Amino acid sequence: MEEALRRKAVLTLGGAVRLPQGYELPVRMSHSTAGPGAGFGSAVFAFEGCRVKKSVSYDEGEFELVVGKRGKLSLTRKGKPFVPRVTIEPVVRHCPEQAFFNLDPRCIYRCAYCTSPLLDPSEDKHLSTERIMAMLDESMEEFDVKAVSFTSGVVGDVDSTVARFVDVVRETRARYPDVPIGVEPYVSTPEHIRMLKDAGADEIKLNLESPRRDIFERACPDLDFDGILDLLRIAVDVFGKGKVISNIIYGMGESDADLDVAMERLCSMGVLPGLRALRVNDLNRARLMEAGIRCEQVSPERAMRLAEMQKRAMGRHGLTTETSETMCFSCKCCDLVPFRDF
Ligand code: SF4
Ligand code: SF4
Repeated sequence: MEEALRRKAVLTLGGAVRLPQGYELPVRMSHSTAGPGAGFGSAVFAFEGCRVKKSVSYDEGEFELVVGKRGKLSLTRKGKPFVPRVTIEPVVRHCPEQAFFNLDPRCIYRCAYCTSPLLDPSEDKHLSTERIMAMLDESMEEFDVKAVSFTSGVVGDVDSTVARFVDVVRETRARYPDVPIGVEPYVSTPEHIRMLKDAGADEIKLNLESPRRDIFERACPDLDFDGILDLLRIAVDVFGKGKVISNIIYGMGESDADLDVAMERLCSMGVLPGLRALRVNDLNRARLMEAGIRCEQVSPERAMRLAEMQKRAMGRHGLTTETSETMCFSCKCCDLVPFRDF
């Protein structure tokens, strides 16, 4: 498993997967407007219990998909054998087994690493509740959907964006009484959290973004570090221990010790810390530099070391990612996920 985990780390942190000319993916290509692959065509590659969502291209890539005898698929890296056997998993909406909707990629805020608001307007979805419900019904018919998740940029103001979440969560809950529902909103009051819970959400993700206040202030100049910590505490009261998640982006100049302190703090509050390596790309590079973020290339070794640290922090507080059935822990496509991948 150690070897599979290392390969997963190399794959998640590396470049695109080049497809053989003329090869047609056996599943629909995913075009995401959120997450590390936002704005690129991508596919999910699965091997040895791991899965990774990667940008795909016919022109170039650090990895190459190789189609062997009887359609057996493998991956090479810069021409050398890398993963001897992979399968390509279907994406429901944005990720496997989940209907994950980005309600609106536009955002009034300016987080330096975030690519959602920078996407070509043609990627713009601005989905109405009716349209989302139609898409959800379609997904439910076509796939075995295990969870429904929602994210969004902040459009107009925080109140009206939370109202959008409440609307889609309430509709989803009315149609599908038993499906786990996860939300990743930006909230600014305890009332917002209660409204989402009352509408029928089971899990909430409020992102701390950086373990260090000074880095946070440069990366997310419009957001409030202390406010997020206070709201996380309230979210645990409302949603329960193990049902509140907070992502931390690393690779922006923080140390491993900074991350350990922040994860201990979150876990002691009953919050599950998610770790996400910074991905620098053509869409966010200039903004990260302008913000004075010291972007670091995250090595697979660091990713593995930090994932172990994350697992130990959760373990000390009786937490596990298995209580989270929605969003990124359940998807597993972009990070090394303790208690699920290893
Ligand atoms: S709040 Fe920040 S991270 Fe979230 S969508 Fe807006 S700019 Fe992106
Ligand atoms: S891990 Fe999260 S960001 Fe990545 S594809 Fe899955 S749901 Fe999207």
